[in-house]
Amino acid sequence: MDFLILFLIYLAVCLFCMVVAIKFSRQSQEFFTRISHYIILVIGPVIPRWLQLAVQLTLHRFVHQRNSFFLVLHLLLEVAVYGEYSWEVYPYCMELRFGHSILLLPYILLLGKMYFFYLCCSRDPGTISPSNHKQLLKVYTYDGILYHQAHICPTCELTKPARSKHCRVCNRCVHRFDHHCVWVNNCIGALNIRYFLLYLVTLSGMAAAVGTVTVRFLVQVALLSNLHQAMYVNADGEHVPVGILYIVQKLFLTFPRILFMLGFTFLIFFLLAGYTAFHFYLLMTNQTSNEWYKHKNSYQCHMDNSRPDKCMQGNTYHRGYLRNVKEIISPETQQKKVR
Ligand SMILES: [Zn+2]
Ligand SMILES: [Zn+2]
Repeated sequence: MDFLILFLIYLAVCLFCMVVAIKFSRQSQEFFTRISHYIILVIGPVIPRWLQLAVQLTLHRFVHQRNSFFLVLHLLLEVAVYGEYSWEVYPYCMELRFGHSILLLPYILLLGKMYFFYLCCSRDPGTISPSNHKQLLKVYTYDGILYHQAHICPTCELTKPARSKHCRVCNRCVHRFDHHCVWVNNCIGALNIRYFLLYLVTLSGMAAAVGTVTVRFLVQVALLSNLHQAMYVNADGEHVPVGILYIVQKLFLTFPRILFMLGFTFLIFFLLAGYTAFHFYLLMTNQTSNEWYKHKNSYQCHMDNSRPDKCMQGNTYHRGYLRNVKEIISPETQQKKVR
């Protein structure tokens, strides 16, 4: 039972880390700046000044500039999961004569994911420049709620088109700005949001496919070894059938790496599936993450009624589900103004 408890602790820690990562992904700059401040405060008295400056400079670069840390971490996690899948699960499943199509599905999804991942990382999200600025001003009307006429970006020194936002990490204004994604090290905007959605779908599909094959393998092992029919002798000397916890524990002791990989895959799948569903909701209602976040804050403001001047009425860019989807597939960059 010790191993089962350890496994549950492992799941809880993973879940906690994921929630913290998501919670602070929007306010990552403020969060990491605060962390670096506390680190310097603690280590300051015993660390030479030149080393403190070096640490501060490194953290500043890490937080305020585009960097590949999360991109590399993301690839390393994939290597770990697919390494375990290829090293143990796949050969065992071959021995058990699983169909080739189900065993190869995770690899096919991986290829698709890598393609959309590359597009998300490399394609321009819709950078606003002096050359396309006038065109983009005509695409969306100012709703007078989130977006107002004559707002000039102090960094780019250009009038902000409606639905655009300046990304502090990339230091540029982006057309129909959604968010800055640390996992692809790029902004998500009008021109790459479609790739981002397909990236999320294939990534969720990968986790689901690896998880499904692995669960099927473990169930097959349990059935073949008659684990479900095993008995134990209780304190009264009676023969009692073992429960599901015993079976999980037995599998955990026999295939520890596979069970760890499966636990991680489950967590990733539920987080990704939720996040993907959220982005499809935004797609259907023609909102960006940035707009949804501001509308949510506006709703809270409305509830406490402390700043009525800041309260907003809602999303004005919803144009019907089909037209909303079309706008993502074929982004508006120079058409007439739309609402
Ligand atoms: Zn700007
Ligand atoms: Zn950015």
